Amino acid sequence: MNAFSTLGLNAELVAAVEDLGFETPSEIQEKAIPLLLEQETDLVALAQTGTGKTAAFGLPLLQHIDVNSKQTQGLILSPTRELCLQITNEIQNYGKKIKGLRTVAVYGGASITDQARQINRGAHVIVATPGRMKDMIRRKIIDITNIEYCILDEADEMLNMGFYEDITDILSGTPDDKSTWLFSATMPKEVATIAKKFMHSPHEITVGTKNTGAKNVTHEYYMVGGRDRYRALKRLADANPDIFSVIFCRTKRDTQKVAEQLITDGYNAAAIHGDLSQAQRDLVMNSFRKRQVSMLVATDVAARGIDVDDITHVINYQLPDEIETYTHRSGRTGRAGKTGTSMVIITKSEFRKIRQIEKVISKSFEQKELPSGKEICK
Ligand code: ADP
Ligand code: MG
Repeated sequence: MNAFSTLGLNAELVAAVEDLGFETPSEIQEKAIPLLLEQETDLVALAQTGTGKTAAFGLPLLQHIDVNSKQTQGLILSPTRELCLQITNEIQNYGKKIKGLRTVAVYGGASITDQARQINRGAHVIVATPGRMKDMIRRKIIDITNIEYCILDEADEMLNMGFYEDITDILSGTPDDKSTWLFSATMPKEVATIAKKFMHSPHEITVGTKNTGAKNVTHEYYMVGGRDRYRALKRLADANPDIFSVIFCRTKRDTQKVAEQLITDGYNAAAIHGDLSQAQRDLVMNSFRKRQVSMLVATDVAARGIDVDDITHVINYQLPDEIETYTHRSGRTGRAGKTGTSMVIITKSEFRKIRQIEKVISKSFEQKELPSGKEICK
């Protein structure tokens, strides 16, 4: 018997997750699913990336949907187009045995007419980025007056990206008696404000420790001279031949430059940043998922949507300004029970930042020496 059936899910959903190869519910799924099935309640759930949040809200949501009604009953807000597409895909997989269920993705940077056409054909569940969602409500393409379940996924990221107003506008237009489920990796002030403003004595679930990076991530730093960053990066790549990594830079320009240099030097690298067109970004992400690219050089903004399993290394080519950003970066590895390494290339003058980060993640960094030429056997 599949362990998901003990959570109160119906046979169609259990069969679908079984097809996906899910055998045991993750901690957040175990805690959230029975609660959300049994009670019409608001929920604040704090869990790191890679803990299985999509199924934690997606499965109970689908069990509550009445497919005989044409109304939009579920709304999932998510920070980026990439995440919207991923969530939509997951929800469609969970719901593939539910006849007539329609889930539609709504996000910016794509034709509004096409999305409107899809909505008009019926959408029980809409997965949307806040900006485009608000636009489509304003144009009366989407009716949110019958929403029964509203899910804020990666609430901290959405607020980081400046969607506060869009989110509050959207929530204000939904019925008061709906259920709101908020999922977030961290709990900054703005998230608490939204929860206070729009939720009625929510249940709270916390998985792992607040603000702490994933447990199975090792943190390492490499001290180099200011001009040696790039050489250090190459050494690290050479010493880890099976590397499948995201490399973070601070600016679009550095991101592009480092990727180009890596390509010139014969590495399977690509850049992803905001100056690329959506089509170019999709292309890069697809090659990364297929592992045709093993070193993805990214800005923090462009990396927000990246949800790729089995990333072995996160490399901080440059440290971010905000420590919270470091948590998000390192959370890209060590997902779904796997181990991962977050490496930081720093110069002497940046060292105090390492101590600051250690305090926030409650973990120590290991100081490592760059592998020398000989060890790499080149
Ligand atoms: P989060 O939203 O918390 O970052 P996701 O929902 O994206 O996490 O899940 C991370 C990965 O783990 C996905 O590839 C998902 O398919 C997989 N996954 C989720 N739940 C389970 C489970 N119970 N068993 C096996 N794999 C799972
Ligand atoms: Mg997620």
